[in-house]
Amino acid sequence: MHEISLVQNLLEQLRDLAHQNNAQRILRVKMVIGPLSGVVIDSFTFGFDILTKQEQLFDQATLEISIPKVVFRCVRCGHEMETDGQRPSGCLACSEPILMPEGGDDLILQQVELE
Ligand SMILES: [Zn+2]
Repeated sequence: MHEISLVQNLLEQLRDLAHQNNAQRILRVKMVIGPLSGVVIDSFTFGFDILTKQEQLFDQATLEISIPKVVFRCVRCGHEMETDGQRPSGCLACSEPILMPEGGDDLILQQVELE
């Protein structure tokens, strides 16, 4: 599962962060995961739950994930449509089928609470 290695990378980043700040525990982790990032949120959460239980640094850590909207912009007229990640079948203004997503593929560690 691709998400497990993403979680492993995240935990690696958090260990460094805890070390730099002399923290004993990670309490809260906020992530932004775009709907076009290819990350399956359930698998990511599952991986986080499993992997964090094995280590004292993380045993109280909670994970919060926010999923941003994606804006699709029409290549012909520039009309913008905001969705939860699904691609509209065409431009609402001019029916152009080619729409370009703006963002939506983020995988960002937004905030961490340490103790
Ligand atoms: Zn258009």
